[in-house]
Amino acid sequence: MKNIKIKISDLVFVKAGKDKGKIGQVIKIFPAVRKAEVQGVNTLKKNAKPSKKYPKGGIIDISHPIDASNLALVCPSCRKITKIKIERSNKKVTRICQKCQADLSIKPKPNDK
Ligand SMILES: [Zn+2]
Repeated sequence: MKNIKIKISDLVFVKAGKDKGKIGQVIKIFPAVRKAEVQGVNTLKKNAKPSKKYPKGGIIDISHPIDASNLALVCPSCRKITKIKIERSNKKVTRICQKCQADLSIKPKPNDK
């Protein structure tokens, strides 16, 4: 398994580390080092000066990348940890949840439970 299977905006479950058990959305992927940045996971407090991004400055939480092997994909439809089934049709590759058969590329709804 050399490729990272997760993609940006995928939901992932943290399997190890200080944020074990958390579920978050992938913000960035670093394939060369097999790491991913997940929203709200592995955050460090940082003292920020007021800027465009943080108009008020002060203490902010910055997510740091964690090892992709510590992440498990979560289906945005059934909210279960799942594996990807690849379906190819008309040269289009679709990633499907093995549990509920939903298309994994759909965006999770933030307040959907
Ligand atoms: Zn599913």
